[in-house]
Amino acid sequence: MYKTPYQFDLERYIDPRRFARIKEFASGKESPLLVIDLDVIKAKYLELKASIPNMQIFYAMKANPMNEVITMLYELGSNFDVASVYELRQLQRLGIPPERLSFGNTIKKDEDIRHFYEEGVRLFVTDSEYDLQSIAKNAPGSKVYFRLLTEGTGADWPLSRKFGAHPDVIYNLILQSAELNLEPWGVSFHVGSQQRDIGQWDDAISRCKYIFDAVLEEGIELKMINLGGGYPASYVDPTFSIDEYSVEIMRFLTEDFGDHLPQLVMEPGRSLVADAGVIVSEVVNIASKAKNNLYKWVYLDVGKFGGLIETIDESIKFPIYFERQGLADEVILAGPTCDSMDIMYEYYKYHMPDTTQPGDRVYIFTTGAYTQSYSSVNFNGFPPLRAAILPPAK
Ligand SMILES: *Cc1c(COP(=O)(O)O)cnc(C)c1O
Repeated sequence: MYKTPYQFDLERYIDPRRFARIKEFASGKESPLLVIDLDVIKAKYLELKASIPNMQIFYAMKANPMNEVITMLYELGSNFDVASVYELRQLQRLGIPPERLSFGNTIKKDEDIRHFYEEGVRLFVTDSEYDLQSIAKNAPGSKVYFRLLTEGTGADWPLSRKFGAHPDVIYNLILQSAELNLEPWGVSFHVGSQQRDIGQWDDAISRCKYIFDAVLEEGIELKMINLGGGYPASYVDPTFSIDEYSVEIMRFLTEDFGDHLPQLVMEPGRSLVADAGVIVSEVVNIASKAKNNLYKWVYLDVGKFGGLIETIDESIKFPIYFERQGLADEVILAGPTCDSMDIMYEYYKYHMPDTTQPGDRVYIFTTGAYTQSYSSVNFNGFPPLRAAILPPAK
């Protein structure tokens, strides 16, 4: 097989000086390790905030719930989208006041709604009648917003049909909420995570406009659109920039709402934190399964259960960097556990320099979102992914 020299466009994913600091920080530390650079998260937050005027950000903390990340975003002015009492408790320990929180999970127990209410939270999402009535009972007078169903088409990590309801159901819930003495505030949607088709926001915003108009005829004036998450991070498959997303989305909004734009809210997760993370990993073994094998199997010490669960169906293609020079082998990448599902990439072929040896370090970029928080607890005895904050630059 004809081979070309191994190439990796490092600067597409990381500033080389930052990468040098991360390598130095991780050297001698146990692998695998997720290193998070807070400066990158701060820059992403400010970039997003500046790209849409008067927008409120509710950080979806499940993407990366490290205390240092939360505290920094709080100090920058962020609000938080909370999905469980456990997340609530963490924010309370960090001193985040309840006015900065929304209970953004459509699936909640009655007692959890009551608990959030008792702790001072007054903002709830809903998409079903049972849940709405529970909010009316357990969190009387609260502000509610209504989650529209989207299909997740075009997203690398779609959120499917689990959340949200069709516009006709939402319309009825809004009318009902007013009768239940709740404050109907607005409409939300999520077009799917790592959504690479900006046009998906156009459809969703049009549906919001339809609902705004329909309930206004019944005397209810909605005031807010929650644009959800879905903004991209820098993986192997290219995307538009944050600014290009925002410019297009503002155009869709103005087309539908003219000068009377509602309050805009966004719930970013991935786009704020993913680019800030690098998983420092190690090659455990490189194996040929037969004499005339086309592809080598490369086993890393990190895999699906240790943080790379978004490689399911090869949905998210993390940039993976091997440091040696050499000719490029096309390889299959797998994790260290004894579960045959623990293969990251078998169909999409990653390149690895043919000089790579077991024990070499491997750097997996854009791993600040949905890695440590998704890593499973002690599967096969492997610990959940360790994570550390990169110390400030000197
Ligand atoms: C996970 C989640 C988000 C974050 O989505 P990203 O695509 O990571 O930005 C936002 N809103 C809700 C309700 C979520 O569940």
